[in-house]
Amino acid sequence: MWYPTEALQTTEDAAMVVSEIPARPENPPARPARTPRRARGEGQWALGHREPLNPNERIKKDDNPLNVRERIENIYAHQGFASIDPQDLRGRFRWWGLYTQRKAGIDGGRTAVLEPHELEDEFFMLRVRVDGGQLDLAQLRTVAEISREFARDTADITNRQNIQYHWVRIEDVPEIWRRLEAVGLQTTEACGDCPRVVLGSPVAGVAEAERIDASPAIDEIVQRYIGDQEFSNLPRKFKTSISWLVDTPYEANDIAFLGVDHPEHGPGFDLWVGGGLSTNPMLAQRLGVWVPLAEVAEVWAGVVGIFRDYGYRRLRHRARLKFLVADWGVVKFREVLEKEYLGRTLLDGPAPDLPEKPIDHLGVHAQRDGRHYVGAAPVVGRVSGSQLAQLADVVEAHGSGRVRLTPYQNLLVLDVPPERSKSLVTALRGIGLEARPSIWRRGTMACTGIEYCKLAIVETKARGEELVARLEERLAGEDLKDAQISIHLNGCPNACARTQVADIGLKGQLVTGPDGRQVEGFQVHLGGGLGMVAGQTAGFGRKLRGLKTTAEELPEYVERLVRHYLAGRTEGE
Ligand code: SF4
Repeated sequence: MWYPTEALQTTEDAAMVVSEIPARPENPPARPARTPRRARGEGQWALGHREPLNPNERIKKDDNPLNVRERIENIYAHQGFASIDPQDLRGRFRWWGLYTQRKAGIDGGRTAVLEPHELEDEFFMLRVRVDGGQLDLAQLRTVAEISREFARDTADITNRQNIQYHWVRIEDVPEIWRRLEAVGLQTTEACGDCPRVVLGSPVAGVAEAERIDASPAIDEIVQRYIGDQEFSNLPRKFKTSISWLVDTPYEANDIAFLGVDHPEHGPGFDLWVGGGLSTNPMLAQRLGVWVPLAEVAEVWAGVVGIFRDYGYRRLRHRARLKFLVADWGVVKFREVLEKEYLGRTLLDGPAPDLPEKPIDHLGVHAQRDGRHYVGAAPVVGRVSGSQLAQLADVVEAHGSGRVRLTPYQNLLVLDVPPERSKSLVTALRGIGLEARPSIWRRGTMACTGIEYCKLAIVETKARGEELVARLEERLAGEDLKDAQISIHLNGCPNACARTQVADIGLKGQLVTGPDGRQVEGFQVHLGGGLGMVAGQTAGFGRKLRGLKTTAEELPEYVERLVRHYLAGRTEGE
């Protein structure tokens, strides 16, 4: 019995089949040559597959998702939720940062069995893209005002430097856009199969160790390409990071530019492609090229073009750029980029130097102009509009006009006169933002979770807050020295909180409770991390079969884990 190779989908399948295959005769009879079968194809446009092969592709082809804005402004905002076409509601709305939020009270056990319309509320999550995480005072005040007026005082800081509102009504969306756009903010392509917010160093332009401020490249990409229909129908989402410093999770992005000094050409950027977590996590790989600041936007557009034209569109779970990069390899990827998209060769470049210690912006630090920046942590990125309004007042009173969001759900105040930084730390503490947080508060992130997310199986934000409080209390007497422990909580198997690259990654799922019933819990991934420090390579956390905990027992579980680690850790670990 011979099995066609494509039937072997998984390692388990392969093992099963191998055990069934009879021993091959020593001189098997010659088999007739097979007519080669036509490759089924991955739905790549560049290879002629222009007809949509799944409903998501159909929605995008039928009408470019950016066009839905006109219907929101002219129809849906006037006629209300019931008037919204389901294909717009669950498809194209995302291109404007809008998702329906989860109906309150639906437990995680029903996530997989209910239809989308049964799970969703008539309210929306609305994501505001804050490219590079950069906000001035007028923007901060506008974000806060919208939160209080239209979003029940919600304004979470996400781990992609966005602001995320909840409880938004469709009727209010045009007015929210008007106010955001009046101060230079937008929700354009904040979600959807398109170029999402561009991550940047939160200290771009002020850091002592920075050789080039990448902000002009981020601005150019946003100005030229965000909202451009040429790049608004990609196979799936496309994530970007551009930073001189190693202070963004660059390897988890579809494309990343990381600062590097070229021995002959000076400072520029090293190009990485094909990173992404979620299921089948992969880390971005270096193309080995050096890109000067002025060419970053052009090279970025070339890579997005490859993704648009060659990206896999047949199966949604294979539609991220990482699968194409894995199949092609970096040599072919670079060749196609140079020949078909740029029409020129790129310069070879060296690998960037990684810092000796992880870069952490919390606390008080010197800027290169002699002023200070102060980094402060909310808990798991949860802040309110009221808190942001207070923050704007505090920032202004301390002589600053700029705030930055970080990709770790924290924020920074820039340009603080040195003599005011101590007072600023105290004032921030007064509004619930801690510049000298415990290692638990510093290192814990949580995704949106069951409170609002329709895909969630478990609660995350409240669990994360409780976990931080319990660890602070129980481990208060421990000598933690310089320990840095990241704890990332996800509400489902997706990887919005980057569970695979945390020291302790917690992936939400149902687990068996003490009485045998299914309850909220987490699968534990241990020892993951990105390449943020010299001598350390990136790797995904190990997930062992027995490593699970109920949500209820989570604080005790993590406490035991940490005590075990502290007792056994070696010098410098
Ligand atoms: Fe929702 Fe899952 Fe992402 Fe959390 S990880 S925000 S639960 S999709």
